[in-house]
Amino acid sequence: MRIECIAIGTELLTTRRLDTNSVWLGERLAHLGLGFHRKTAVGDSREDLADLFREALKRSELILTTGGLGPTFDDFTKETFAEILGADLVEDATSRADMMAFYAARKRVPPQVNFKQALIPVGAEPLRNPVGTAPGVWWKDPPGHPGVRIVMMPGVPREMKRMWEEQVEPRLETLAGRAVHTLRMVVCGVPESSLDERTREARDRHGQLEWTILANLTQVELLARGMDRAALEAARVDFEQVLGADLASIGEGNLEDAVLDQLEARGQTLTVAESMTGGLLASRLTAIPGASRTFLGGVTVYSPAAKTALLGLPVAFLAEHGTVSEATTIALAEAARRVLGATWGLAVTGNAGPGAEGEAPVGTVFLAVAGPAGTVSIDRLLPGDRPDVQLRGAAAALDFLRRQIDRS
Ligand code: ATP
Ligand code: MG
Repeated sequence: MRIECIAIGTELLTTRRLDTNSVWLGERLAHLGLGFHRKTAVGDSREDLADLFREALKRSELILTTGGLGPTFDDFTKETFAEILGADLVEDATSRADMMAFYAARKRVPPQVNFKQALIPVGAEPLRNPVGTAPGVWWKDPPGHPGVRIVMMPGVPREMKRMWEEQVEPRLETLAGRAVHTLRMVVCGVPESSLDERTREARDRHGQLEWTILANLTQVELLARGMDRAALEAARVDFEQVLGADLASIGEGNLEDAVLDQLEARGQTLTVAESMTGGLLASRLTAIPGASRTFLGGVTVYSPAAKTALLGLPVAFLAEHGTVSEATTIALAEAARRVLGATWGLAVTGNAGPGAEGEAPVGTVFLAVAGPAGTVSIDRLLPGDRPDVQLRGAAAALDFLRRQIDRS
């Protein structure tokens, strides 16, 4: 199936806003074993939209658009498609009712311009928007283009994602004529190439499934897709053996979900002391609903003064060992654990660059985990620029902790 993505919005052509919608959609399609053959970003201009839509209708079977569904003068995605396809726009009663309810819940009356949002092309179906006011559109076999599907979604990423997950993806599975099940396994601390090699035989053993390996900065996802649930279950059991402790999580969750689940299952708690990661650990953990049941909190002890004032590391100790060192990281993990009375204390120090810091080259990271059976630490040299090293450092810290909890 030839699939094309069109991101609409003048701001996407500037440096102010990146088109992240198409990246997200591309990932979701990959999970379905599908992919784009073309992606475009286009400004809010009727002529440009009309030209692009005409081309897309010629070359693609599935056209995904985001943006331009709002109530303002520069939103005309639906209007433009309707115009070039010669279809009228009609008011959709459900969309109008949804919009009235949305405003009523906020004790407001919809502005007159908003009513145009409830209009959809004749022959198309509305896609409800449970988190906003602009419905989307699912348009199958538009006039003169049998076999084509047009999907129009809002530009606001949160609204687009909900609509995709709840309404578009299920329709695409039906379109593929099959309900596809997915097994998703998250592996941390193993580079993509070695994971590929290490799992080749196992993937061959489960060759009736469709396999994909998706790597990003901090983790590698191994995806299997198939129609037979039992075959996926057999693969899961097999891969648990093959991957052992490197398998961080199975299902929708990521590394941080895995850590919080481990803590919750054991009735344990965690606190963090982070320097180089500047709060990323706390941020990743608190992004998960329910984190407060196990994550007590933490400190960003970025300067030597903070390490002394907040966690009590003596000035002389820091002078002797340096701020980026094994001894200091261990002391931070133990202090963080003690101060909040947590089961586990996790600490990170390092040098994210760009310049060397003392003796530590760029990319140096020290990790320490203080737990019921004592404290362990490791160091790593991570590649990348400053944000990469920080992200990788946070992931390495969570993974190190995960492995210690696993072993305890
Ligand atoms: P709505 O339907 O909710 O009124 P819309 O469909 O008109 O919105 P826009 O007005 O184009 O969408 O964009 C709304 C917000 O979403 C803006 O903050 C915009 O920067 C952001 N946005 C739009 N398109 C994208 C995209 N492709 N990637 C990331 N953010 C986007
Ligand atoms: Mg817009």
